[in-house]
Amino acid sequence: MVGERCSRDCGFCAQARSSSAGDTLLSRVTWPRFPKEDLLTALERRESEFQRICIQSTVGPEATEALTGLVAAIRGRVTLPLDTSALPPDSAAADALIGAGVDHIGFGVDAATPEVFRRVKGPGWDRYQALIKHVARNHPGRAAVHLIAGLGETEQEFLRAVQNYAELGAVVGLFAFCPVAGTRLGGLPAPSLSAYRRLQAASYLITRELLGIEAMDFGPTGDLRHLPAEAWPKLAGGEAFRTSGCPGCNRPFYNERPGGPQYNYARPLTEAEARLALEETRIAPSSEQARA
Ligand code: SF4
Repeated sequence: MVGERCSRDCGFCAQARSSSAGDTLLSRVTWPRFPKEDLLTALERRESEFQRICIQSTVGPEATEALTGLVAAIRGRVTLPLDTSALPPDSAAADALIGAGVDHIGFGVDAATPEVFRRVKGPGWDRYQALIKHVARNHPGRAAVHLIAGLGETEQEFLRAVQNYAELGAVVGLFAFCPVAGTRLGGLPAPSLSAYRRLQAASYLITRELLGIEAMDFGPTGDLRHLPAEAWPKLAGGEAFRTSGCPGCNRPFYNERPGGPQYNYARPLTEAEARLALEETRIAPSSEQARA
């Protein structure tokens, strides 16, 4: 993570302007400070142990400068794929990041709809959308979008957003809202596991182009009620319930306590875990129905 306290004020974020949470926190993970040279030396020495580097950046002029400097420093020392989770100030800055060797720019849109965005993150929806479209169109495959479930959107709204970004060609990463003490939304509950499992299952089908949202059935309050029978075998391996986002990203315990519930599995699921995750959707057909 680079940058000091953020210039934005997202209600869930420890780095937000008004947050009184510790400034080494992002979601529920602490990010201890290290001298840059120690980081670069360690990366060089242990490059083969990683699949990808992802730099989280706060928003503000110093953060942009720190990010650009770190990207250049890392690119000078290791060849691992390098992503940033950042909001570049404009499209030229986004182009410059890609030109400097960034594989994906991950946009923390977080909110599924403009209304939720305004309430939770404040102004700026249009700016995010314009930048995402710019990167997706001019640098195909290099835009990534992060969405947080449990900020007050319906399941249908969330999945519509997943489909919109997937159609643009963006990589979509799912996060479960994680209440952090000292943030504006620190008193709200995390999303129910069953709702999150439904979103994971449906997002997997959408982003792999196995099923569109039009083929899914939603209740009057926007809850996902049914998936067609042919969808279930595609979910049986449990891949849908692993951490989603750029290739190789596992971010263990980013949203979940080690004692569970495991919103995102940071590794392949066992057969029993995959079966359980399907049951946790609360809409999966029973094993007899699935066999029939
Ligand atoms: S823009 Fe990112 S780092 Fe800044 S407050 Fe929002 S979520 Fe946190």
